[in-house]
Amino acid sequence: MAKNTTTLEIKNLAVSVGSSQILNDVTLTIKSGEVHAVMGPNGAGKSTLSAALMGKPGYVVTGGSVKLDGIDMLALPTWQRATAGLHLIMQYPTEIPGVMLQDAMSAALDARERDTSNLRSLIATEAKRISFDTELVDRAVNVDFSGGEKKRNETVQLAVLQPKIAILDELDSGLDIDALRDCAQRVEDATREMNLGVLVITHYSRLFEQLKPDFVHILTNGRIVKSAGPELADELEVTGYAAYSDK
Ligand code: ADP
Ligand code: MG
Repeated sequence: MAKNTTTLEIKNLAVSVGSSQILNDVTLTIKSGEVHAVMGPNGAGKSTLSAALMGKPGYVVTGGSVKLDGIDMLALPTWQRATAGLHLIMQYPTEIPGVMLQDAMSAALDARERDTSNLRSLIATEAKRISFDTELVDRAVNVDFSGGEKKRNETVQLAVLQPKIAILDELDSGLDIDALRDCAQRVEDATREMNLGVLVITHYSRLFEQLKPDFVHILTNGRIVKSAGPELADELEVTGYAAYSDK
């Protein structure tokens, strides 16, 4: 299978919310097949970064650029960023009453001009692959799901849509160990099988047992203060963020 090569280039990104400047200067380049972990304390701006990348209303970009293969993402509405190849799994996935997963995926694939003829079996295969109850895929998206079921459901969507770059905002929040292992392993598989590039936001290195980061970045006070290899995550487990928080 021909592999994609895609680059998401975030340069000097600054973002404000209301009257607060949350991100000051974030520069990161993510390529196909690479896993970049962004770690940082509560309130550092990690979710703000994911929201700004996808164009969530209320998150105002005050400086810098975001380009996917040279295309200016900041000029596009959210759905066009998604069809261009960006995909976000939110920290707290949204419940969408009245919308079935199959219908949402069908519309999303249509927007990408992709075949939907065997969508039902594709969803079933992907659900089984991460031990997600296939009955749940016939319900409204995420409605009354447990935290773990929501993240499994979001992971099925990622596998079906096959984005170029996935942003995972605390995939590990609200998940039990089994669900975390299954979801993180599925994303790791996607980095190899479809050359997915990943920006994974987390507090804890536990999810790195399956999803192996190539680079670890520390975000505090609205900027990346350190970037290194996976050994940086091990160091953080021991020392915490205190050494980085005032830089
Ligand atoms: P993290 O995900 O790293 O814990 P967030 O990006 O959620 O941090 O938040 C960073 C800061 O921005 C916090 O001080 C938070 O209160 C503020 N913030 C984020 N989103 C909003 C919002 N929609 N309205 C007001 N403040 C916000
Ligand atoms: Mg967050």
